[in-house]
Amino acid sequence: MKRLTPYSCARDDYKGSSGVFLDANENPYGNLNRYPDPYQQNLKAAICRTKGVDEKFLFLGNGSDEIIDLCFRVFCEPGVDKAMIFPPTYGMYEVSASINDIGVIKVKLDDDFQLDIKEVEKHISYEKLKLVFICSPNNPTGNSMNHKDIEYIIQNFSGIVLLDEAYSDFTNEPSFIEKISRYPNLIVMQTFSKALGLAAVRIGMAFSNPAIIQYFNRIKPPYNISTLNQEAALNKWADINVIEQQVGEIKEERKRLTSELACLNITDHVFPSDANFLLIKVKNADYIYNYLVNNKIIVRNRSSLVDNCLRITVGTKNENDKLMNALKKITL
Ligand code: PMP
Repeated sequence: MKRLTPYSCARDDYKGSSGVFLDANENPYGNLNRYPDPYQQNLKAAICRTKGVDEKFLFLGNGSDEIIDLCFRVFCEPGVDKAMIFPPTYGMYEVSASINDIGVIKVKLDDDFQLDIKEVEKHISYEKLKLVFICSPNNPTGNSMNHKDIEYIIQNFSGIVLLDEAYSDFTNEPSFIEKISRYPNLIVMQTFSKALGLAAVRIGMAFSNPAIIQYFNRIKPPYNISTLNQEAALNKWADINVIEQQVGEIKEERKRLTSELACLNITDHVFPSDANFLLIKVKNADYIYNYLVNNKIIVRNRSSLVDNCLRITVGTKNENDKLMNALKKITL
């Protein structure tokens, strides 16, 4: 990786935006005929203004999933190195590890779905362990990890910690972005797919020290985010007040659903959530899942990860009413 000579595209050689462009073998006619900005400078400038970070601390990927994949390719040697994950958690960490021929060390979350630091300590100095994935708030459990545990791992691990904050807009906890200059081994990942409402647009954000950002830039496909997608994200960023209002409504609905679901006789437990979904333990998850599908209400059956649990995304008030009406009619 360190010896890699990255592909040099036409926009690397000449960075100006005006002139007669005869350098990239584009068709001179049309309005989407030019290649996108490979480093998404306008979009990064807008994000960084709001987040209060310098642009050299930000990388944009084709969804968070591209960033996860790049982490394996930058920091791990296939067939040799390992990554640590904390199940039950987001499935792509393990899938991406397998695709890149990296073994995973699984340290289960404890009974409160928190990091089990005693177990982490047993593996943290293993020389082949290169990457640790922490998801907070965690998918599918919905809770945030204790910040002092996250910080303990960052401080005591010599490899890279990727902290996935995909759902952080739905919490009241501060983001770890403010700690990236203190910890050179920390990557904080956020996404346009959740609170920002642009899952279709595929943009993930990695905030980290400039050396790591440069590694990502060297190995990414040159034009990883299309012009249309950069524009859609930029327009959304201009509308940040609307997003804040939507997040407020989702949090209100989360509160309402939490108490209404808890009152149903099919419910064993509603886990507290800092995300835009709820994990609920029910009497018979398979039956309820199929019942809801037959009523054209689709939730996620997570029983393979957490016994008899469904993961329910918080929808609009109207959608949540439909869910509750259907669930109230179930007799087991
Ligand atoms: N991280 C977590 C924890 C997720 O739950 C998801 C998607 N469900 C992602 C990342 C993927 O985000 P993106 O759409 O940016 O690839």
